[in-house]
Amino acid sequence: MADEENKKQFHIFISYRVNTDADLAEKLCDKLQALTILNEQREVRIKCFLDKQNLKEGVDYTSQFMTALTGSCLVLPIVSEACLKSMLNLQAGWTDNVLKEWQTALHFQSMDKLTIIPILVGANEVVGGSKVYRKFEGFTMVGQLPDLVLPDAINDHTVKQVIGNLFKLQGIFLNPLELTDKLAVIQSRFSSEVWPSYRTLWSNVAELGPEPQLTCVQCLQPYTESSNGDGACRFHLTDGPIQEYGRTYACCQLKDPLLGCHRNRHNPKHHNRFKYGSFVNWRAGIMWNTLMSRTHAKISADDYSEEYADETAWIRVGATTSNAGKDQNKLMIASAIPYESWFMLFEKEELIGVDTRLPVFSLKGQRDEYAIGRWIVSDEGHEVIGINIECGTRTSVSPSSVKVHFAWPEINDFNGPEATLIEFCKSAAFGERPLPKALQNIKNPYNLPTTPLVKVSRQSLES
Ligand SMILES: [Zn+2]
Ligand SMILES: [Zn+2]
Repeated sequence: MADEENKKQFHIFISYRVNTDADLAEKLCDKLQALTILNEQREVRIKCFLDKQNLKEGVDYTSQFMTALTGSCLVLPIVSEACLKSMLNLQAGWTDNVLKEWQTALHFQSMDKLTIIPILVGANEVVGGSKVYRKFEGFTMVGQLPDLVLPDAINDHTVKQVIGNLFKLQGIFLNPLELTDKLAVIQSRFSSEVWPSYRTLWSNVAELGPEPQLTCVQCLQPYTESSNGDGACRFHLTDGPIQEYGRTYACCQLKDPLLGCHRNRHNPKHHNRFKYGSFVNWRAGIMWNTLMSRTHAKISADDYSEEYADETAWIRVGATTSNAGKDQNKLMIASAIPYESWFMLFEKEELIGVDTRLPVFSLKGQRDEYAIGRWIVSDEGHEVIGINIECGTRTSVSPSSVKVHFAWPEINDFNGPEATLIEFCKSAAFGERPLPKALQNIKNPYNLPTTPLVKVSRQSLES
């Protein structure tokens, strides 16, 4: 059981600079507090800490904010460009309460006491007499921040290091004028990624209903988050005993053991962090079933041959159909290189909050095979409108690369996103050059879609 000082009184702590972001912080606080935690069986309203509303007069500020910070599950630092600018001129001996909150929060996050999701806010620019919002571009400001340690800091990290560490976290880009979209993202990320780890620490257990039952994707067993922990889950790396191996599991050579040979935490959602047998089943069931999924574009390294199909790199972008049960209506991305693969489905809503600075996936093989995917974002906002995929091997003539734009249809048929643009690029070999000898007898050696969906333009390196 947790001792009293570890108890959580707030779900979300909003940390902001009064001079620059007070309006946004207050609005965010009000709107979040109107929402409930998802997946709870009873209605549980989100409770926020905002200094203006929660600080008591006459009590030492530092001790109050420390109590509130450690008493919160999630910290949302409002990192606006205006706020960052105010930190550029910090001098030795000066203090900065906002920076102090962020540094302290980072310190507690490193001890697993809370979770941080930075809220990244750009700036308004005047274009043709009217104000236009420009998305956050403050990442480069880190270099200009001073190498100072705040006088009353919790550790010896400099201002530059604190902000640098904050930028390593997966943030949420937010336009203050379009707050509503992002509220659902914060609510959903809080409910699924943050709250389950802190639920048992909640100070007022009576206001919570019975703990939600989850099903683990690795061992397929039901569990509750309070019974979860390192090693709680036992699973095999393959999805069943293999006949050729004398009905033993390839991972451990054990014959039909009740418990798996590998241990980890239970997980409610499929992931690519480590291998587990039921993943193989799940992926194969969707990807190779043309009733459950369809492919918009597929690329392979340009030295691909069917004979050596396992020794190359490939990527596939598509969607799951309405036949895919609870996996229906999602964007599908699959990739493999020798000995490694990656597969994931994305809901439309998941792409609203995704941190587009990070690659979607990145595989690198022992012999220079590689496959990488990066989100394409719209010019105006930071919205995902497509994906750039590229792969190659040491022996491929040039990288195979394609740009796929996609969108969920306005009238949702639950068949996932449609491709609105498919553009092959950079690959000199596509059509313009004679095929390498080894590939000349192979039909469709690059596995290009035979009928372009909307628009296909091929550019050669020469053009
Ligand atoms: Zn095993
Ligand atoms: Zn499990």
